Amino acid sequence: MKVLKFGGTSVGSPQRMQDVSKLITEDGEVKIVVLSAMSGTTNSLVEISGYLYKKNPEGANTIINQLEQKYVEHINALYRTEEVKRKTLEFLHEEFDYLRSFTKVHFTSFEEKVILAQGEIISTNMVTNYLQECGIKAFLVNALDIIRTDKNAEPDMNYIKEKITKMLENNAGYQIYVTQGFICRNAYGEIDNLLRGGSDYSACLIGAAIQAEEIQIWTDIDGMHNNDPRYVDHTEPVRQLYFEEAAELAYFGAKILHPTCIQPAKFARVPVRLLNTMDPTAPGTIINNDFQRGTIKAVAARDGNICIQINSSRMLLAYGFLRKVFEIFETYKTSIDMVCTSEVGVSVTIDNRNHLADIINELKKYGTVNVEEDMCIICVVGDLASDNIGFETKVCMALKDIPVRMISYGGSPHNISFVVKDANKKQTLQALSDTLFK
Ligand code: ADP
Ligand code: ASP
Ligand code: MG
Repeated sequence: MKVLKFGGTSVGSPQRMQDVSKLITEDGEVKIVVLSAMSGTTNSLVEISGYLYKKNPEGANTIINQLEQKYVEHINALYRTEEVKRKTLEFLHEEFDYLRSFTKVHFTSFEEKVILAQGEIISTNMVTNYLQECGIKAFLVNALDIIRTDKNAEPDMNYIKEKITKMLENNAGYQIYVTQGFICRNAYGEIDNLLRGGSDYSACLIGAAIQAEEIQIWTDIDGMHNNDPRYVDHTEPVRQLYFEEAAELAYFGAKILHPTCIQPAKFARVPVRLLNTMDPTAPGTIINNDFQRGTIKAVAARDGNICIQINSSRMLLAYGFLRKVFEIFETYKTSIDMVCTSEVGVSVTIDNRNHLADIINELKKYGTVNVEEDMCIICVVGDLASDNIGFETKVCMALKDIPVRMISYGGSPHNISFVVKDANKKQTLQALSDTLFK
């Protein structure tokens, strides 16, 4: 069985919902379909929550009413029959009354997560009703019953496997199983989510859990491009990526994939295909276990990182220094992304600033600490193994006019990473494309 995920733009209008319904049913195969909220909806729900945090119910109600009006229009355009229209509108009004009820309660992150979940709950309801109206045997699976995270906020893979297997056994005979991306329950049973862009992660978790034939991520572009098309002109699609390459690109900023969604697919060895809903016959990108030698595949960038440098004369010839430094980050549950060392110091990058002040205070026990904010990690992936002579030189040459703060090479054969200032991100990405892909 295949698992297909459609992002916000792919279900962003009644026409797109109809196109997606045709696309998923025409081959007659049984599949699991994971849907995002209609594009813009999660942003509106974040905005509503923002007003409620600021105790401004009027502001929240204005957005809620505008959003409801938009959905009424979508529903009127989506269905042919009065009966399905009425049923879906009834559901919609209940949903929006529920949203309005949050303007009267004490608002915390718990309520916010419940609000953020409603976008996917509405879109999946709309598409399932449309499929049924078209005579397709479609079944709506509540993601809150099958996806759960553990106490470390990591997906609880055993639970997910068990729940999906049972769900499919108990509801055999359907053609399309529709479910919500992004939303889940946490270890305490509360409604939670897999962070922004998390529908990709839901699809990969489900695909890994059922050992799917393939996971397909359908979006608004023809696969993974060799550089970020939002910053660089004339980027090209990459036809194939090794799991590790795709995982690095996703983690370091290629927005087409949620940062950690490749991990479960990689462990389960389920290929992931990136496809374009706007151009369904385009080949897209296949991500699998084949590693192609002799090519640099793509570049990605993630901004908003913090560089921390610790200099210490005590590091000279001292064993245990790095352990002490890393333990401080571990204590504050802050993961380090990049590390560079010298005889007298170490530089690391983090992107979670929640405990920055405490971390700096503790690091000061071991040396002089220097912090630089607004730093960008640029990651180049491909065959960068040390026996592939000259590739790292080529990458470095591309950066000859750009001040580079850190370089990391040799951690894996698949990547070389740099840190530059956020302000130099666009220039760096362009320079890399000009040198590597022309
Ligand atoms: P969806 O709503 O379908 O999840 P996203 O907006 O999350 O879609 O991801 C698709 C977008 O990712 C593209 O429109 C593109 O602008 C952006 N993107 C960033 N880097 C890349 C890349 N390397 N290749 C392709 N798309 C990228
Ligand atoms: N709707 C969520 C978001 O906008 C999840 C997703 O689309 O993947 O972040
Ligand atoms: Mg996305």
